[in-house]
Amino acid sequence: MNALGEALAAEIRERGPIPVARYMAEALGHPEHGYYMKQMPIGAAGDFVTAPEVSQMFGELIGLWGAEAWRLMGMPAPIHWIELGPGRGTLTRDVLRVADHVPGYRQALDVRLVETSPVLTKIQQSAVRGTWHQRFDDVPAGPMLLVANEFFDALPIHQYEKRADGWHERRVGLDGGDRFAFVTASLPCPETPVPPALDGLGEGSMVEICPDGLDVAGAIAERIAVHGGAALIVDYGHTQSAPGETLQAVRRHAYHPVLADPGDADLTAHVDFAALKRAAESRGATVLGPTPQGCFLRALGIEQRADALRRGATAAQARDVASGLRRLTDPRAMGQLFKVMAIVHPDLAGLEGFDQPA
Ligand code: SAH
Repeated sequence: MNALGEALAAEIRERGPIPVARYMAEALGHPEHGYYMKQMPIGAAGDFVTAPEVSQMFGELIGLWGAEAWRLMGMPAPIHWIELGPGRGTLTRDVLRVADHVPGYRQALDVRLVETSPVLTKIQQSAVRGTWHQRFDDVPAGPMLLVANEFFDALPIHQYEKRADGWHERRVGLDGGDRFAFVTASLPCPETPVPPALDGLGEGSMVEICPDGLDVAGAIAERIAVHGGAALIVDYGHTQSAPGETLQAVRRHAYHPVLADPGDADLTAHVDFAALKRAAESRGATVLGPTPQGCFLRALGIEQRADALRRGATAAQARDVASGLRRLTDPRAMGQLFKVMAIVHPDLAGLEGFDQPA
């Protein structure tokens, strides 16, 4: 067992099994041993590759989507450009490059990056100039454009199992030896932890709830309802709240046992977009989508952008553009599983990208 595993095992021996959310939060965010705290996980040499790393077209189109929102808002200056969980900083870097081509837009953007990892912050600082914050709530209020790609899937989830007498929390304990194992609490939760849409599920159903995600989506929506703006959430997940277990670990581009090597493998869960949508709408914002990533990027003109990039490119560059286009939009790659949802001020309900039914 690694050092974080030993620490968690000691806690479990002393005080009993811990919620899945606590295991996930420690595995990803422990100040010393957490997955994001000690290494750069993204890229061919890391554990996984994300859309902005696949092609510059991803960030460019999101930057232009933001420019259209800014124009509809009456071109406020300054306006926050906020990215949650910026990884290597590639997405915002691509956004800022296209922003230079829209008169007044780049100068209006006050760049704010929300990142908890010191290692990743340093890497982001070599890609973009801006101000860093640990939490979304620390960014000063004001009109804003925001993007979060593969951020919500890293927020800790609780798991609950339905039994005859109600919902029981699933926890992480130890098997007879020194290995982590899932255990289900013997007593039911005193209050229903799941939304009404899921409460009627049959016995044996498993449900995942992400309170931190609901808090962040609600906080974004409240700011937008008051100060104006638009936010894009891109992640893999489901359009309707649904039962099922989606917690997964990935290491070196392959699945890894979920409870092995905490802090040495990425841990994620599918995003429940319907739950985020309810949280955002309850704060007075309008929600667009979710729509599959492929549909969103095509509506924004990714094919035309790819044609433009291919003109004047070398044969190798043209192949990269074609493969980036395919990976971002093809339903067999990232085009269908990944979804895009926007939280916008009601005045911006006509923003492009969401005309196809989700
Ligand atoms: N958006 C990037 C990176 C995705 S990986 C891309 O698409 O390539 C997840 C990112 O979220 C990392 O930068 C990670 O350090 C950050 N992160 C994870 N949990 C966080 C939290 N609770 N608060 C802020 N950032 C977090």
